[in-house]
Amino acid sequence: MNQYYQKDLYAILGVEPDADEAQIKSAYRKQARKWHPDINDNSPESILHFKEITEAYEVLTDEHKKSQYDILKGFNFKSSSYTSQTQAKKAYSETSSTRTQTEYKAKNKDTNNHQDKSTFSQVFENILDGLFTGESAPKKPKEEKKKLKPENGRDINLNVTIKISEAISGTNRTVNVLHSERCPKCEGRRFINGAKCPLCKGTGEISIHKKLSVKIPAGIKKGAKIRIANEGNKGYNGGKSGDLYLFIDIEESSFFKYEGNNVLCEVPITPFEAVLGANIEVPTLSGNVTMKIPPYTTTGQKFRLSQQGTGKNKKGDQIVTVKITVPKDMTEKELELYKQLKLISKHNVRENLLNDK
Ligand SMILES: [Zn+2]
Repeated sequence: MNQYYQKDLYAILGVEPDADEAQIKSAYRKQARKWHPDINDNSPESILHFKEITEAYEVLTDEHKKSQYDILKGFNFKSSSYTSQTQAKKAYSETSSTRTQTEYKAKNKDTNNHQDKSTFSQVFENILDGLFTGESAPKKPKEEKKKLKPENGRDINLNVTIKISEAISGTNRTVNVLHSERCPKCEGRRFINGAKCPLCKGTGEISIHKKLSVKIPAGIKKGAKIRIANEGNKGYNGGKSGDLYLFIDIEESSFFKYEGNNVLCEVPITPFEAVLGANIEVPTLSGNVTMKIPPYTTTGQKFRLSQQGTGKNKKGDQIVTVKITVPKDMTEKELELYKQLKLISKHNVRENLLNDK
């Protein structure tokens, strides 16, 4: 005996027993939205409830099953869109004579039966077709294929970190792109015959790796975005494919810092270079250059090396901050000279500081 004969299918869907087909469908869609396992973390409760409402829907939209059910349960009303008095009588006699046969069928789901067209899975898939798009489920979807809305593919964003030298001269990079594609087994429906699709595990999507060689142009800046058209996720039903976006990051260096198109760095100088001035070697992005330190330079003083920064059209500068650094391993002779310097020096560099207090 079919178990649904024990249940109040109208109550399960939350409709009156004289509800017409449109009301039953609408009630089912409302319930299905609420109880779909996907939106309920696949909780056992939601799966059970979803099966129950789907079963109720299946029976109540199947003319033959509904009339049998209505008669057996005593829902015999005049205004039913399905059950005229004669049909009801006919259904009743069929019910009693085919009871054994029905029971047998229920136990052997695989039995091929042409009268029992509306299988659980069919109903399930037909209803789900329109469930999340807000379209109404087609009446006979197996016969007339519904025209599907074009779906554009999503864009893919990818972070790419390059070396500063690559940013300056440009480079080619092979990137690994992870595409999401509609699951070919369930065609994105997530469920097959009411069970999670085994291929996509109920996500409706599968992941596909793709290697792509991309050209990163010379002079690219940190944070720049490169668009590669049509390399995003695939579109469906004639929809456009998404694009691939590469977000460029430039590897931090312990020496160079980047600020817009400018490159910043700190360069140590000795106390006598600071006092006497010097020509010192300073690394830049394009190799070492000689930089002039004028006499009487102090710590924190900044020097600009023009056009030694980054940028495509308008190159930035390199800003060098000098820092007077005292060598740790000075010789006796050096120390002796500093002692003499101390004896002859009359300068008090803290004079103003003390007067202010
Ligand atoms: Zn699948």
